[in-house]
Amino acid sequence: MPDGADSATAVLEIDLSAVVANWQYLCRQHPGGQVGAVVKADAYGLGAAAVAQALAKAGCETFFVATLAEALALRRVLPRERIIALNGLAVGHEEAFVGHNIIPALASLPEVAAWRAMARRANRRLPAVLHIDTGLSRLGLPREEFAALAADLSWLEDLELVLAMTHLVSAERPDDPMNARQHADFAAACALLPPVPRSFANSSGIFLGPAFGSDLARPGAALYGINPTPNRPNPMRGVVRLLAQVLQIRNLPPGASVGYNATWRAERPSVIATLGIGYADGWPRALSGRSAAFFDGRPALLVGRISMDLLCCDITELPPLRPGAWAELIGPNIPVDRVAEAAGTIAYELLTRIGPRVRRREIQA
Ligand SMILES: *Cc1c(COP(=O)(O)O)cnc(C)c1O
Repeated sequence: MPDGADSATAVLEIDLSAVVANWQYLCRQHPGGQVGAVVKADAYGLGAAAVAQALAKAGCETFFVATLAEALALRRVLPRERIIALNGLAVGHEEAFVGHNIIPALASLPEVAAWRAMARRANRRLPAVLHIDTGLSRLGLPREEFAALAADLSWLEDLELVLAMTHLVSAERPDDPMNARQHADFAAACALLPPVPRSFANSSGIFLGPAFGSDLARPGAALYGINPTPNRPNPMRGVVRLLAQVLQIRNLPPGASVGYNATWRAERPSVIATLGIGYADGWPRALSGRSAAFFDGRPALLVGRISMDLLCCDITELPPLRPGAWAELIGPNIPVDRVAEAAGTIAYELLTRIGPRVRRREIQA
């Protein structure tokens, strides 16, 4: 390949059959309604086009992205499925929403007004999702704006309301009283609207029990193998393997240092492997000394500072290796949630930061 893509020394392998199996599992956990797929941020870094096409083939009908640009990119590979932009209507870009049949999750009264005005210009009813804030205070109609809309439903004239939605604040914490409060507030809000399908749970919300079911769940993380039930066993199948290739192997005498600022020194004769991945690839620098690379199921501690394009690991205890060997940095031996925790973050951030230099490779097991 002339662009050298084959020579990438870091690969993110995505098991599309596992994504589909996870979606099917979530459908079984949400028997009272349908299950869509959140594929924002390039499907959490995995590649939205391939993920969405695999899910659409399996029967998924509704896809959620964040922005209009993401929606337009997805529309190119999904000509028919329903695409909803969670970040709302990008006011000034109404024509693009209409032209490509993208549904905005209207997040404020000004957005409702702008979409209505577009509907009148287009001379037809336009589909809309109404996003109601019940506590996140991020996007969605705040309490006062929703009250104004509920008191005067002519706000919704010219629109075809296809969903009312809200988003949970602490779904991954089943004991948080916020969950029940949002449930009650969302039900009360929907009761003031004309009958409209509802969308409530994200990944973790699906596991809060049947009361948190709705007409359409919106999981993202769980599709990609992130544990939606932290502190309990992960019910989802692992989806990704992050692999990096050995570029060089060094034999170091006791006292020799590894990496910038010599933060690690060999205490014994040591064998060090240098891998072709670094923080420019989204591999957190915070993982120096805190995670491992696995070779055939055996761990090699990451030693010394992780640098921009490289990291080093201690393979002294491992059977002999050669340059060209591949190590697993995320995968069956070392789940994404564990790596994220070691880096002081969550798996969502770890996956969405894996950079463009890491080659994506889809597999259909
Ligand atoms: C990102 C997002 C989701 C998906 O959340 P997960 O925790 O990844 O399942 C659902 N709804 C909204 C509004 C979101 O922003």
